[in-house]
Amino acid sequence: DQAAQDAVEGDGVQHMKWWGWGREGVAFTHQDKPRLRDFVLENVGVDLDTPGRPALDFDELDVPASRAPQGLLDALGAAAGAGHVRTTPMERVVHTYGKSLRDLLRLRAGDLPRTPDVVVYPGDEDAIRGVVDAVADAGAVLIAFGGGSNISGSLHPPADEERPVVSLDLGRMNRVLEVDEESRLARVQAGVLGPDLEDQLGARGWTMGHVPDSFTHSTLGGWIATRSSGAQSDKYGDIADLTRGLRVVQPGRLVVTRPVPSEATGPSVREMLIGSEGRLGVITEAWVQVHRLPQNREIIGYFFPSFEAGVAAMRDISASDASTVLTRVSDARETAFSFATSKASKGLSHLVSSGLKEYLRRRGWDLDAICLSFVGFEGDADAVKDDKSRVKKIVKAHGGIVVGKGPGTLYDQKKFDTPYIRDYILDRGALADVSDTAAAWSGLLPLYRHVREQADAAFARVGVKGWVMCHLSHSYHGGACLYFTFAFRQTSETPLVEYDVVKGAIQQAFVDAGGTLSHHHAVGTEHARWLAEDISPAGEAMIGELLGAVDPDRRLNPGAIV
Ligand code: FAD
Repeated sequence: DQAAQDAVEGDGVQHMKWWGWGREGVAFTHQDKPRLRDFVLENVGVDLDTPGRPALDFDELDVPASRAPQGLLDALGAAAGAGHVRTTPMERVVHTYGKSLRDLLRLRAGDLPRTPDVVVYPGDEDAIRGVVDAVADAGAVLIAFGGGSNISGSLHPPADEERPVVSLDLGRMNRVLEVDEESRLARVQAGVLGPDLEDQLGARGWTMGHVPDSFTHSTLGGWIATRSSGAQSDKYGDIADLTRGLRVVQPGRLVVTRPVPSEATGPSVREMLIGSEGRLGVITEAWVQVHRLPQNREIIGYFFPSFEAGVAAMRDISASDASTVLTRVSDARETAFSFATSKASKGLSHLVSSGLKEYLRRRGWDLDAICLSFVGFEGDADAVKDDKSRVKKIVKAHGGIVVGKGPGTLYDQKKFDTPYIRDYILDRGALADVSDTAAAWSGLLPLYRHVREQADAAFARVGVKGWVMCHLSHSYHGGACLYFTFAFRQTSETPLVEYDVVKGAIQQAFVDAGGTLSHHHAVGTEHARWLAEDISPAGEAMIGELLGAVDPDRRLNPGAIV
């Protein structure tokens, strides 16, 4: 409601619901999706028609009192302006967690052992330098906060942290400062949310093209600090490719890397800062690569007779001369889920109820094994036409068919609505979450099968009927990302124990099968236990040594990574 929404607008900065995803008043419903109830009942054992059991009321939370000493509050006020230093319980709770399932379950259980003691909203880099130095002088701890959308447990203060904890919210720093049109680079403040960034760039005819599913509620600084990747990474690159120059405030100093296209300056400082999760300082601004807004954009849908065929086609597209914006193929389970979530009169359900089904059956397809794929194209009309034709040939060579623009356009329009589903089913007793990895093309399908097996074994250990589904997205020359979504019915009052069994099995399967612990969701606290297996114990030690040398007193987001 409006009162709750007003309460999370700390210092004019819009935050998400304290208890879940997105804006207050915006929610998912299954009522307009005729197949979804039966689908979820059959596969997860949860009846969406049962009334939801929403999160607690904010008043029911036991929010620990702020421990910020007056001297620290005064020093923060001197740096950022007294009006930008706030200690309300709502703001401290909003800044405690990100949006992982663990974070949401903790909030729902009122589990708040430690919140930030104070939230400060500096308006420029000088103010940030003042805040960081004030924190160091006071022997306190500082946690940078972007949109609060991470799912890696990267934000919460350690439960036993005895020093005062300051959350530094970048939300007032939300402007595109300049565009170097000749170099196609934009200088942007780190606190800008996705839509604000694209609106400002778009008004000048540019786009950065970075579109994570969390686009509406995540920031440039957060993307850089977590090594984010957006749906259009095939064309625009991951955030590590898009970020050219950086300015990062550390206690007593400022790190500046130049926006050069490439450098040979020893181990890359820019790369050390990308993915540093606030542990190497506060990113205040970045030079990012931008592109002219494309003249045309088309997302085309395809069907494949199997996931193996779809993956092989994506691999061949990535090795071909076709330029694509995105390549994505869902396995049969995710395809079935997409059919189940479509509305009665639109898109996919219309497609599959048409003569297409009969046509595919006649061609010998197993309709339960259909895999839906989307490939995106941008450019002038001729380029889009050529690229589509190249992709069509590859799709046909792998036994696939073109199903056209309709489903692709719908996917493109609706992709930011999907995150709301998790709170809705959580209200109704289903736990759902995601895990992503990346691996070389040669290892991708064995990894996929291993994860499916391990997830099923984990569901059996928990004693539930579980659901795991997957899509390939983010294709590279040498491999791709696999993104798994899993769900199961909560059967006990200790859902985190059940969750750990399933999430842990999937993550372990990633590293056992040669994948990375995460393609784009960072390390945080959630994935830290697999770091040594992923990058070797010596690699993990090197990260620890870097962080320890820059921040010997562990003042900068001490809980994250190592
Ligand atoms: P926060 O969550 O606020 O912070 C994350 C980390 O970055 C923390 O350690 C924080 O201290 C640090 N940090 C933030 N700002 C700064 C700064 N200015 N300087 C230094 N450190 C900073 N991720 C993807 O990459 N692709 C996706 O498609 C995607 N989809 C998602 C969908 C959903 C539904 C959800 C819940 C998450 C998704 N994510 C995705 C994860 C998340 O959105 C990313 O990790 C995102 O980059 C976090 O940005 P943020 O601004 O919300 O950062």
